Amino acid sequence: MTRLLIVGPPGSGKGTQAARITDSLGVVAISTGDIFRANVKEMTPLGVEAKQYMDAGDYVPDSVTNAMVRDRLAQSDVAEGFLLDGYPRTVAQVAELDDILASNGQNLDAVVLLTADEDELVARLLKRAQIEGRADDTEDVIRHRLSVYREQTQDVVAAYRERGLVREVDGLGELEDVTSRILTALRQDA
Ligand code: ADP
Repeated sequence: MTRLLIVGPPGSGKGTQAARITDSLGVVAISTGDIFRANVKEMTPLGVEAKQYMDAGDYVPDSVTNAMVRDRLAQSDVAEGFLLDGYPRTVAQVAELDDILASNGQNLDAVVLLTADEDELVARLLKRAQIEGRADDTEDVIRHRLSVYREQTQDVVAAYRERGLVREVDGLGELEDVTSRILTALRQDA
């Protein structure tokens, strides 16, 4: 299992799990959100272009995002494998990733789908907002974010489900437990 995607709702601990899984499997974690944020911070041409969309809460256009991912996946450190977080987010990006992997002679091995009870996620995110003093993260705003996530990911998840690649894992519970659930799910045949 060396070429993986991870998908999960806000509050599911996806970033933390991504880091733990990649450590354990010896593959590279690639988060498109992190790459964009780093470029914005460094004010690279890519960052300048992406910033206007990110600030508005919109997706960065596919032409920009796809080129960035293609470039990243061509680097030598991902030859042994990767775990992509935040990409693909649209059906068009699914097709692009297929194309990128095909041109590298590679295949996707599995898609980890972290699931969590919505009320639990809301409770978690409210607690986090309180601790971090994010007063604008009200329950309504959080529920809206979760419904946007559901809408946005359903087509992508459906596409990979059809191919039998999706490994659904319960994302609630202790950090270590979730990590071992994911690793167990990846060891099983689809
Ligand atoms: P979120 O806050 O939704 O978890 P991320 O940290 O993954 O977002 O990404 C931050 C921003 O970067 C997104 O809001 C979007 O503007 C941009 N972005 C990240 N991944 C993609 C992608 N696959 N396609 C288009 N835009 C993306």
